[in-house]
Amino acid sequence: MTEEEIIARIQELKKERNAVILAHNYQIPEVQDIADYTGDSLELSRIAAKVEEDVILFCGVDFMAETAKILSPEKTVLVPDKAAICPMAEMITTEELIELKAKHPGVPVMCYVNSSAEIKAESDVCCTSANSIGLAKLIESDDVIFVPDKSLGGYTGEMTGKNFILYDGFCPTHHRILADDVRKAKEEHPDAPVLTHPECTKDVLALSDHIESTSGILRLAKELPAMEFIICTEQGLNHRLQKENPDKTFISPSELNICPNMKKNT
Ligand code: 13P
Ligand code: SF4
Repeated sequence: MTEEEIIARIQELKKERNAVILAHNYQIPEVQDIADYTGDSLELSRIAAKVEEDVILFCGVDFMAETAKILSPEKTVLVPDKAAICPMAEMITTEELIELKAKHPGVPVMCYVNSSAEIKAESDVCCTSANSIGLAKLIESDDVIFVPDKSLGGYTGEMTGKNFILYDGFCPTHHRILADDVRKAKEEHPDAPVLTHPECTKDVLALSDHIESTSGILRLAKELPAMEFIICTEQGLNHRLQKENPDKTFISPSELNICPNMKKNT
């Protein structure tokens, strides 16, 4: 089949099945381009909760499709490739969370959406990178257990002044972007603002001008007057950045910023 034939067949199947295609900002360009909606985890969850189609085809990783099913239990949620999992979400088990809760009795648990349904069920609040700070401020307690991402948790604790008790999880893809890579990119492009995802390491966050979710980075790239930007996140975001800002330049400080799981959907 040619690419055009594949695209036409997907459109046909979408009508037949009354399906909608959601794609995360890290999907490969072809998948983003055929999707009805692209977005960050929060935007896609909100869309999944309100779409009218019977079937949601979720192009992302497993916890995203699982979250869509939690929010729209009456719908059929499909994934293109079951092997597309999030290694960070796999880093914590329910037993480990129960143990952590027992060590800190009464302390509320905030979990990152990058987690299993079982972890969410053991938590009090579930956040994404776009709303962690706002939600943490609403929690009455000054102590908060945060799982599984130590980077987003550390940053959220810092921004709210609360005592965040962190689990040792992290995103292997974002942690491959090193502070030295960012320093080098800044030297080469001194006028380029550094826009960074909060899953990056603490030392990369410290070198950044703005820390945002993937859609927050897209918004700033449009709003800010700069013509070139250093982007610290998974490279799939560059497709939308370039498509929406054809005259601007987006620099990835490291070539290792690829999430192999996000690329499984073809
Ligand atoms: P957001 O698009 O919500 O910023 O999420 C980033 C991510 O790592 C999803 O796997
Ligand atoms: Fe998980 Fe990181 Fe890949 Fe997102 S980029 S799916 S957090 S491993």
